[in-house]
Parts: sequence; C-alpha cells; structure tokens
Amino acid sequence: MGKRETEQFFKPKENPFTEDQRGHTTLLFGGLTWKHEKLIHAALERLSYRCEVVPTPNVAAFQLGKEFGNNGQCNPTYFTVGNLVQFLQELEKKGMAKQEIIDSYVFLTAGACGPCRFGMYEAEYRLALRNSGFDGFRVLLFQQSGGLSQGEAKAGLEMNLDFFLGILNAMNMGDLINDVVYQIRPYEVHKGEADRVLDECMDLLAEGIKKSRPYQLEGKLASFLQKFPKAGDTAGYIGKFLNQLYGDEYTSALREVRRRLNAVEVDRTRVKPLVKVTGEFWAQTTEGDGNFNMFKFLEREGAQVMVEPVGTWINYMIHQARNKIADRKGVEEAIEAPPAWRLDKVLAYNWKHKNRIVKLSLAEAIFKREWNRLREALNYIPHDLADQRELERLAHSFYNSRAAGGEGHLEVAKNIYYCTKHISHMVLSLKPFGCMPSTQSDGAQSAVVAHFKDMIFLPIETSGEGEINAHSRVQMALGEAKVKAKAEFEKVMKEVGYSMDEIRSYVDDHPELKGGMYRVPHSEGIIGTAANFVIHVASLMKSERRSRLAVA
Ligand code: SF4
Repeated sequence: MGKRETEQFFKPKENPFTEDQRGHTTLLFGGLTWKHEKLIHAALERLSYRCEVVPTPNVAAFQLGKEFGNNGQCNPTYFTVGNLVQFLQELEKKGMAKQEIIDSYVFLTAGACGPCRFGMYEAEYRLALRNSGFDGFRVLLFQQSGGLSQGEAKAGLEMNLDFFLGILNAMNMGDLINDVVYQIRPYEVHKGEADRVLDECMDLLAEGIKKSRPYQLEGKLASFLQKFPKAGDTAGYIGKFLNQLYGDEYTSALREVRRRLNAVEVDRTRVKPLVKVTGEFWAQTTEGDGNFNMFKFLEREGAQVMVEPVGTWINYMIHQARNKIADRKGVEEAIEAPPAWRLDKVLAYNWKHKNRIVKLSLAEAIFKREWNRLREALNYIPHDLADQRELERLAHSFYNSRAAGGEGHLEVAKNIYYCTKHISHMVLSLKPFGCMPSTQSDGAQSAVVAHFKDMIFLPIETSGEGEINAHSRVQMALGEAKVKAKAEFEKVMKEVGYSMDEIRSYVDDHPELKGGMYRVPHSEGIIGTAANFVIHVASLMKSERRSRLAVA
C-alpha cells in the first residue's frame, strides 16, 4: 500500500487591515435583526468607518455554505458563511474583480474559543472563502471573551472604548425597539402602520447617532491635560463613562420614538396567545429563512411574539464569567494559590479574587442600569432582562449551569421562567440542525415538560429545508396556546363584571388607551395582553364610578 502524502494545516497568514486602508475599505457585518444592524451601522459610521450590512441570510446562502464549507457543521454556520460568499459573488457579478473585492472589504464577526462550533466560525469563513476563490479575504474577530481593547485588528479597526460603547448602545436600542414593535404590531388597527412608523423611527435614531460625536474632553481642561498624557487618557476614559451614565443623547432620541409609536392606534382587546421565542442565539434572532421566517409566520397565525434580546446573552456571559472565577478559586492555572501559613499572601490572594468578582458584578449592574434607562425612555414597554441568578436557579437541577456552549442552561431556564412566572402561553425553541448544546438541552427539556404539567413547549429544529413541516408543528402547538389564551380571557371577563361592549365604549371615550406606547400593568398570574388590558380598563372604570359616587 502506497504512503499517502499528508500536509499539516496552518492557519493562513492574514492580510492586515491597517489604519491607512480605512478610507477605502468597507467593513461588512450582519447576523442580527435589521434594527440592530441599522443602528450598529450608524455607530460605525459615527466613528468614520465605511461599512455595509450583509443581507439577512436566505436559503440560497445556506446552499452556498454547504457547497463551499465543511461537512457536518451546524445550521447557522452554513447560513452565515454562505451568506458572506453570496454577498461577495454579487459584488463580482456587478463587475468588481476578485482582487479588488479582497482589497476593498473586510468582514467583522463575533468569535469565541468554543466549546461548541462557534469556536470554528473563523476557520469556517476562511475555508469557504478559499474554496469559493476569495482566498486572502480578511475576517476580523470580535472576541466574545475579549476586553475593552482587542489588539489583533487594532491598526485598521480600533476596538477602543468608543467602539465598544457605540456597539453596545446600538445593540441595546435595537433590542428594545425590536421588543416594542413586536408588542404593537399584532394589535395595530391600521394594517402596516406599526412598520411604517418603525421605519421612520429607525431613520431618526440612525441619523441622530451618525451626526453625534463620541465624547471628548474639551476646553481648558483638555489643553491642560495634554501636558500629562497618562492623566489625560484616564480623564478621557472617566469622561466617556460619565457621559454614558448620565448623558441624554440616546434617551432623548428614544423619547421621540415613544411619541411617534404612541400615535399607532392599537386594539388590545384582541385575544392572542403570547409566544416566547427562545433557542440558539442566531436561530432565535434572525428574521429570515434561517428560522423558517418564524416571527412572521407566528404573527400571521394570530400570535403575539415575545422576542429574545441580545442583552440576555451579554448578561449571561458576565454571569458565567463571574461563576467561573468563583468556582475555580485556588485551582486556576495562571494564579497559584499561596500556602495557608502565608497569611499576608492569602489575604492578598483573597482580595484579588473578590476584586475580580466585584468588577464583574459592577459591570452587570451598569449594564442593567443602562438598559433600564433606555426602557424608561420607552415608557417601560420593553420587557425587563431576566435575572441571571434566577435563571440559573430554575435550570440547574435539569441542566448543569456550568455546562457551557451555545445558550448553555438558558434554553431550559427560559422555558421554566416564562411558563412559571406567567409571562407567555407557550415557549417555542428554535434549535439549529447540528447544534450540539441545543441537542443536549433537548434531552433535558423532556424532564422539564414532564415536571411542569401546564407547560406548552415546542422545540423546532431549524435547517435549510423542512419549512412546511416546521410550520405545521408550530400550528398544532399554537392551537393549544390559543385555547389557553381564550380560556384565560373568558375567566377574566367573568371576574371583571363588565361586558365587552362596556369595555370598548370606555376605551373609545379614553383614546389614550389606544396609544401604541400606553403601558398596561401586568396583573399577577395573568399572561395575555387582552386579559391584562381588560382588567386594567375595568379597574379604571370602577375607580371612575367610585369618584362619581363620592362627588354625588
Ligand atoms: S450554539 Fe449550536 S448552532 Fe450555535 S454555533 Fe454553537 S453549535 Fe452552532
């Protein structure tokens, strides 16, 4: 038998993206909803980058991913990798030469070191690019575990505080607006109005971001500090943080968004099942073929969709990092624990350990504070972030919270959380074909469903094919959720003691109740929007009657 020649694989040498190329190089990115992407685009333009969003991946992109990528990848890899190739091929069709494309564009994507296939994304992009003839195309990684300054791509793309804050604010606003619009659209009186106003609002926000400038120290203080560069840098950082914490650039823009969206007339007496969408990060976020266009389908079928914010994922990463530090105290590879008799060193070691945990807790608190500041500007209509400790507590006995990869214990946790806290009638989990962590949590979900008898939970495996089958399974589960929502509403109607005509007539006399951004309080144990609305209107009617009687 002849000896087969083998070749050691080495990571190909990356062509650099340098500062002097910024003016003629376009940053490509994508992978979220168009709302997030539009705001991130604006945030990058504000920092003087040329950038472009790659369109939402479709089935054709998935096919290209299969053609040019490795076998046995998870579904999001095929979609996203193929999507980049498809975009570059389109540029070629428009007349650009391959080399010109390679020289003029770079792709910015998230990366991690695993443990699931997320750790392989960068390599997958490079392989597919090479196989499709774009060898040498630059892929820049935005590391999941990186800090405030990620040096690898520093020259062309400066990942500094302005960059991180810009992206973070854009993502938070994208999350919140996405949440709001999914709460308004199912109840809009004039079809298409919510989307029309949303478009206007997104333009307004994006223009506002583009026109603004990142915070800089100015005036006499700035000129004075120029003499002390180190102190000047620190003062600059502090100024940026304070501006982030107390500035009103984003909150005032969101107040205008609230005013405009409030003009969308809604009818909250429509009884609809509330469906929480969870699952793998990309599958639960994308608004296209990657999850069988599930959001549109659910709305068409009469559901109100509760979307998952990227913010939960950011919070989860902070929470897990803190857990890891706490768990590994004394056994970390890089930090040797001192012997017990060296009290001075033990104290210093404990102090350092505590300090790292406190820093992460502070980061979490700041993140939540910022999130709630933006929520407040939107009249608290967007949902609050689920508490990570509570999610961990709920899930841990079913799915070990230290098992990392993908959404980890979150898929199980969210199912229990949204069901037992009466936030949704049904949980739909979108799990990509070939996803290792989702397959694990699927196993655990059988135990969860057996334990919580009232739960309506449906896992759907997403892929490049099988849309009709998936939709019909969702339809069946949705049927159950509709029955649940209807029964809840009927029970509430009996309890409030008013007829539907009386409720409607009161609402007609109080048009503020028809505003898209009117906040309806959540009644304990009640899930549906219509049921909560009727309880609220009935209580307003009762208190009005009491005041009338008191006057008489
Ligand atoms: S979580 Fe699943 S689908 Fe997502 S990258 Fe990891 S293996 Fe792939």
